[in-house]
Amino acid sequence: MSLSEKKLIQTSPRLGETRHLLVNYDEIALKGGNRRYFENRLRKNIRAAIKDLGGSHIQPRFGRFLLRLAGETSLDKVCQRLSRVPGIAVYSPCLSTSADLDSVKTAMDSILEPLLEKGEEPEHFAIVSRRANKELPFTSTEANEIIGAHVQRKTGWKVRLKNPQLPLYLFFVNNDCFLALDRLPGPGGLPTGTTGRVVCLLSGGIDSPVSSARILKRGAEVIFIHFHSHPHTSLASQDKVRELAERILPPGCSARLYMVPFAATQNRIITECPSRLRVILYRRYMVRAAEAIARKEDAHALVTGDSLGQVASQTLENLRTIDSVSSLPILRPLVGMHKAEIINDAKLLGSFATSIEPHDDCCSYLMPPRPATRSTPRQLEAAEESLDTEGEVRKLVEASDVEILRGRLD
Ligand code: ATP
Ligand code: MG
Repeated sequence: MSLSEKKLIQTSPRLGETRHLLVNYDEIALKGGNRRYFENRLRKNIRAAIKDLGGSHIQPRFGRFLLRLAGETSLDKVCQRLSRVPGIAVYSPCLSTSADLDSVKTAMDSILEPLLEKGEEPEHFAIVSRRANKELPFTSTEANEIIGAHVQRKTGWKVRLKNPQLPLYLFFVNNDCFLALDRLPGPGGLPTGTTGRVVCLLSGGIDSPVSSARILKRGAEVIFIHFHSHPHTSLASQDKVRELAERILPPGCSARLYMVPFAATQNRIITECPSRLRVILYRRYMVRAAEAIARKEDAHALVTGDSLGQVASQTLENLRTIDSVSSLPILRPLVGMHKAEIINDAKLLGSFATSIEPHDDCCSYLMPPRPATRSTPRQLEAAEESLDTEGEVRKLVEASDVEILRGRLD
């Protein structure tokens, strides 16, 4: 925990009393004419993420939002939620006062006093001012100097402008000044629901939750599909997938999960087709069923957790053989990532611990000893000749159960 994080927590009851947060958004600023659409969606998503925590009011203010919390709302809980809402770049719990420097000094004192009482002594500090309102009778530099001198007199702390250990932020917006100890990170990216609908193929492993989370952060609305081999695989592995989906979804966001029973299709593949092509055949049928569901759901792409060359089914040749059965694009957000990078992302996302719980995946069921690393669409078409592909896909879609899942609130 950094010094400023530690201090934020120590002073949050005081900051909490004022009930204000400033929320800065990420790429929305680049969206020109569509900006209002992205802002409205982000506002709606923030409201949904914190709705159950008590009253709040969200107001657009010069390219950011000002959140005002009602008395009973827990600041810590609101912060936890905001850190998971795509589209938020940074947010700051703030103390609010009017934009004159005497009021700012008084408000600053109320932040400093608890720090001094606890004997906190940063090696250095700096005042970092930002002005949205250029009509104020002082510049940012003047505000930095005047409030900085005040803090120095009060505390005896040293000033360092570059990389200070304790930055003290002043945001001047309209006739208000907001004082903050921290700028806490949101996930960044675009607000969920602004870039279209996709279908994510979610296994119980490490990779596919990370790939789904990446596409959510690009503003997509997701529908999950999981293929299971019950009764060959346990019901616990389906619970695991539900848990992963709930961890990936932002709080306040819901999504459909299609649970597709895959065992009968697998049995036919196992008895009728060459064993070396088994996993690629599984994938082709998964992709076909996913495409049929995507069309039903008006989704425009499929998303998988493949990473080039990671396993036999993810060589370039096999990916091409798999892609050739889909007329929708298959997005692979992890294609260029190393496993260690994916694991790191999974840990940050909070899905890793669930992903590594032991489970029986449908694809490890009767895994061939030597899976093909190279294949061609023609080879696979020949292998599928004895199967009724159209009927198979129809049965998969018809047999699927649809559930509604919600992003976790803890
Ligand atoms: P993961 O860690 O996500 O399971 P993986 O590296 O083990 O991925 P594969 O098992 O080859 O890779 O799966 C590749 C991709 O195919 C997965 O990331 C996922 O998108 C999809 N997939 C695999 N099995 C299933 C399944 N049972 N249900 C839904 N999608 C699946
Ligand atoms: Mg897997």
